[in-house]
Amino acid sequence: MQKTFQVGAKTFVLDEAKAEAAFAAKRVINGRQTMCFNLLPLKYQWAYDLYRKMKANHWEPEDIPMGKDIEQWRDEKALSEVERWIIRMGIGYFSAAEGIVGDNIQHVVRELVTAPELKLVLGRHAHEENIHADSLLYMIASLGINPHECEAMFEDVPTIVRKNEFVTRVSRSLRRDLDMTQIENKKLLAKNIFVFGQCMEGTQFYGLFGMVLSLYRQNKFPGIGQMFRYTLRDESNHIEVFRNLFMDLVEENREIWTAEFKEELRDLMQEAITLEKEFIRDCLPVNAVGLRLEDFLTYIDYIADRRLEGVGLALLNPSAKNPLPWLAEMMDIKKEQNFFEGRVTEYQKASSLNVAADDEL
Ligand code: FE
Ligand code: MN
Repeated sequence: MQKTFQVGAKTFVLDEAKAEAAFAAKRVINGRQTMCFNLLPLKYQWAYDLYRKMKANHWEPEDIPMGKDIEQWRDEKALSEVERWIIRMGIGYFSAAEGIVGDNIQHVVRELVTAPELKLVLGRHAHEENIHADSLLYMIASLGINPHECEAMFEDVPTIVRKNEFVTRVSRSLRRDLDMTQIENKKLLAKNIFVFGQCMEGTQFYGLFGMVLSLYRQNKFPGIGQMFRYTLRDESNHIEVFRNLFMDLVEENREIWTAEFKEELRDLMQEAITLEKEFIRDCLPVNAVGLRLEDFLTYIDYIADRRLEGVGLALLNPSAKNPLPWLAEMMDIKKEQNFFEGRVTEYQKASSLNVAADDEL
């Protein structure tokens, strides 16, 4: 028996029995491990759709002009020392953080996940972390910053070291040959996906993002600000990839979704918030960019609750309102696709048109 499968506007004819067997063997974990890249028939449609969306958002650092940033950096009077410091800190923190996220995808999550379309979108996710790391190199080179100085910021600041330990501990525990049919190991993976997607990329990135975008809003570092906005657009897709992955993992392994485990995850988010607030208090000169510390801290609470909400967990600070609506608009959660100007939008338009023309995705 032949059966027709539709993916966007593309049609595929598959042998029905084979297709059904392939579909049934697809699981987030403990599914069929195959050397062949058997995308069809798609079981996790969201993964393929997000892969296409992420590809349509493709950008290259060198497309963003850095002339104005360089001019400001060299002008003694254009910037304060605090503003220069924020840029060095932003570059230093993200240079390491993007690498940690990419490494965890490639060596932990993509290794343990079995369905091919999930591996596909995770491959794109890892590639985007490479683009982000490369964009930071481009900033370092353009401004003539000493890379070791940025590196030292990551390694020597205690509140950053603690943020780092928080994520690497859920990654380290999975870098062994584990029996993924054991409930404890399933929980380890669920924790990893929750911590990296919702706590780290989804919450802890937002302190420094907010600082850099505050400068950008004051017309300082337009090139760097633009790159951070593209990065944020990517991050919102990464949060969504890991959110969906988490939900499907739980759906297929209901035995892990106990009241106790939910509390454990909420505690992890609470820990992430505490670490981020310590980092902000310790390191981020919030007043220097014209923001109130209390608003900035509340913003972290607000963002964290959106992440908990996204994965069906109870909020930690239900009364927290968004204190910085302009920031949300510039970098938020449900962002307009055409919010970005310039050449990157053209990439997107061009590929979106192609998508519309041949795929309807
Ligand atoms: Fe990133
Ligand atoms: Mn990311």
